[in-house]
Amino acid sequence: RIAIHWHRRDLRILDNTALHHAANSAGAVIPAYILSGWKKRHLWTGEKRQAFLCRCLESLAKNLESIGGRLTVRAGTAEAELENLAKETGAEAIFYNRDPDPFGREAEKRVEAMAARLGIACHAHQDVTLHGPTEVLTQDGKPYRAYTPYSKNWLSLEKPQPLPKPKALHTPPGITSLPLPDNSHWGLAEPEAEIIEAGERAALARLKTAVTERLGTYEETRDFPAVAGTSRLSQDLRFGLISPRTAYIKTVEAMAATRSAKAKGSMEKYIKELAWREFYMAILWHFPNVLEEEFNPDWRGLWWAEPDEKFEAWKEGRTGFPIVDAGMRELVATGHMHNRVRMITAMFLTKDLHVDWRLGEQFFLQHLVDGEIASNNGGWQWSAGTGADAAPYFRIQNPWSQAKRYDPDGTYTKRWLPELAKVPAEKLLEPPKNNLPLAPGYPLPCVDHAAERDRTLAIFKKHRAR
Ligand code: FAD
Repeated sequence: RIAIHWHRRDLRILDNTALHHAANSAGAVIPAYILSGWKKRHLWTGEKRQAFLCRCLESLAKNLESIGGRLTVRAGTAEAELENLAKETGAEAIFYNRDPDPFGREAEKRVEAMAARLGIACHAHQDVTLHGPTEVLTQDGKPYRAYTPYSKNWLSLEKPQPLPKPKALHTPPGITSLPLPDNSHWGLAEPEAEIIEAGERAALARLKTAVTERLGTYEETRDFPAVAGTSRLSQDLRFGLISPRTAYIKTVEAMAATRSAKAKGSMEKYIKELAWREFYMAILWHFPNVLEEEFNPDWRGLWWAEPDEKFEAWKEGRTGFPIVDAGMRELVATGHMHNRVRMITAMFLTKDLHVDWRLGEQFFLQHLVDGEIASNNGGWQWSAGTGADAAPYFRIQNPWSQAKRYDPDGTYTKRWLPELAKVPAEKLLEPPKNNLPLAPGYPLPCVDHAAERDRTLAIFKKHRAR
């Protein structure tokens, strides 16, 4: 019996549910990846994440070889390419891990219809999250609309265990495959950015560093962008270079091994972040309209400013607010931005520049290596004050006080704004005195935060009073 394993958000061989079942139930397994067909500019992706994907595929191909498999790469729609592959090879089954986002679900429906037509068995597995979107529901069987009750339920559920190492795959010879892709496949340039190392081995090394060096102090350090205090595993979870089960179990093992109550508490906090990821995936699964409109119906149709040169300044990191500019430059230079600074820059765009969160969401998705539509949409709607469990609209962070609190000595800011290297730290934490630029070439703040804050409050109040 020959089976196809359709790789999607699971670019790994270890602890991969569908791959494990394919290897156990078929005599031969054909691991396949289908490249998407879009070309050139894409509203929701960009060269950095695509390059990371290509590097992950390269590493996946090598890892598969180490267990007797060979990756087949095709391009087009999943249903057409999997149909061709099944007909060419006589495969009788398709195994895959479910992708909870609306685009992934749509592709699955079409693959299942094709398989039913051809009499091929489809085996779909829950793998991307510890708990699927229909597993964590209220007592009335409804989806949660806020994180806190969701996470209580999520934490109380028994967690699935990682799977043993996969068996040999025995891919039959002679299957045609496209070469491993690079960005030219989508008509994109190779990125100049310094992107984090791709592949399953690099992800497992990051998990080890996180567990042994970072998570024990996660709670104290996670909000300080100058410190390497977070796991840096988001792109690995995004592309399935590690499974959430493995991330979870390694953290639980580290909790059991430490005697420090503080370290245990920090690791618990980390586990709650994994629940945020799954909460936003559940929100998107139950309410796919959030990709178009505000989660909270009260704020649909809210007024947003026409994006102008200030929006361009935000994208380029020259708003004159050093902490905001540092975040945006980090994003463009590396495809990553620290979570605290994501919140600061997103709130600044929506509450100080009054630009529609959908434009910020899009820009982030074009640049983030970990760009993931559920988490990104959740983060943006949270920051805009329109989302599930949102910061209420009147809680508007002040970028100056945020910098004072989370980057008091300016280490992070100066790392990304070298033109401010010689400016004393305290000057980065408040609007410049006498309206003089902080350094030659560095702009003055493009808005007055206090005035824009009042404007935001007025916009929201007016909308509510309609
Ligand atoms: P850690 O602090 O080590 O967190 C552990 C893991 O938990 C992360 O790897 C991630 O998978 C998950 N996680 C942590 N915080 C969140 C959160 N708020 N929402 C969902 N999952 C979370 N995360 C993405 O993975 N992709 C995105 O596209 C994305 N866009 C965001 C946009 C905005 C405006 C905001 C405010 C947040 C966004 N996040 C996104 C969440 C968060 O910023 C990143 O997951 C985090 O910075 C990744 O770094 P880390 O792996 O070191 O995180």
